[in-house]
Amino acid sequence: MIIVLKPNATAEQAKEILSRIEQAGLKPLYMPGVERIVLGALGDERILQQLHLDAYPCVENVKPILTKYKMVSREVQAHDTVVRFGNAAVGGEKFAVIAGPCSVESEEQLMSVAEVVKKHGAVALRGGAYKPRTSPYDFQGMGVDGLKLLHKAKQQLGLPTVSEVMEVSQMDSMCEYVDCLQIGARNMQNYALLKAVGESKKPVLLKRGLSATIEELLLAAEYIYDAGNPNIILCERGIRTYETATRNTLDLNAVAYLKQRTHLPVVVDPSHGTGVRELVIPLSRAAAAVGADGIIVESHLNPCEALSDGHQALTGPMFKQLMQELKPFVEAAGRTL
Ligand code: PEP
Ligand code: MN
Repeated sequence: MIIVLKPNATAEQAKEILSRIEQAGLKPLYMPGVERIVLGALGDERILQQLHLDAYPCVENVKPILTKYKMVSREVQAHDTVVRFGNAAVGGEKFAVIAGPCSVESEEQLMSVAEVVKKHGAVALRGGAYKPRTSPYDFQGMGVDGLKLLHKAKQQLGLPTVSEVMEVSQMDSMCEYVDCLQIGARNMQNYALLKAVGESKKPVLLKRGLSATIEELLLAAEYIYDAGNPNIILCERGIRTYETATRNTLDLNAVAYLKQRTHLPVVVDPSHGTGVRELVIPLSRAAAAVGADGIIVESHLNPCEALSDGHQALTGPMFKQLMQELKPFVEAAGRTL
């Protein structure tokens, strides 16, 4: 429920209603705005109705939140959330480009590509140390050694880092070495992990599951928010459809839809969305045009030797070309690069 107070309502009156909500066993929300105070009450709608909050003289109106997800909804917060880590901000005026290899493979591989993406304008470095691979025989990632290399790259280049956490048991080392925790597509509905990253308060980049609906993605974000962490970036990374020409089908509908329904920032992953190097730049331009807050792209200076996802990695010159070609699209969308 959203409880809109009259413009002259005081903080004291708001407090009284909030404690009534809490006493009834519901979760109270306090959302002071420029013109008026708005309150929220989350929980069993039947209990809420019995409270008759509209009978308070300071209350202008009481309306239900129509969606299943609540805290991440634009109905609860109209303005955009900006998620910050290091010098990076996702959801603000600047279109954020997060780039780096699929996997951290060695110091030389990570540092060399990190320097290139930084030089051309990336605001954060990505790189997987724990890799969710379809086959158990494929490279599984460097583990903690990979995290330490990410940390070193950050110290040397000043680029904050994004890396995937696959299990709750990895949380301590992830929090020690990494700035933003990625929840991969395969783990979007791992509720224990969602709660753990929610309790950690570290920024989270939440990827859409391979076959997840938009509502399921938003409810996964709601788990993180409900556990106490509002620093969530949503990521559209393509979904599985009947189409086989590309690795996945990048759902740009979802981006436009999400921007209307949630205040959380939304980024696009055109690398996993297409699986084809030559399609990454056009789909990045499309992401900027449709109103995404940024992109997360894979890049490798020697893709033929990459230990994972080499066929979708942008080479150094292609990354430079990406940044050049993005600019007019980002500016047309009213943002800066
Ligand atoms: C990745 O970012 O390398 C990755 C494994 O992504 P996803 O979870 O979207 O497949
Ligand atoms: Mn990858």
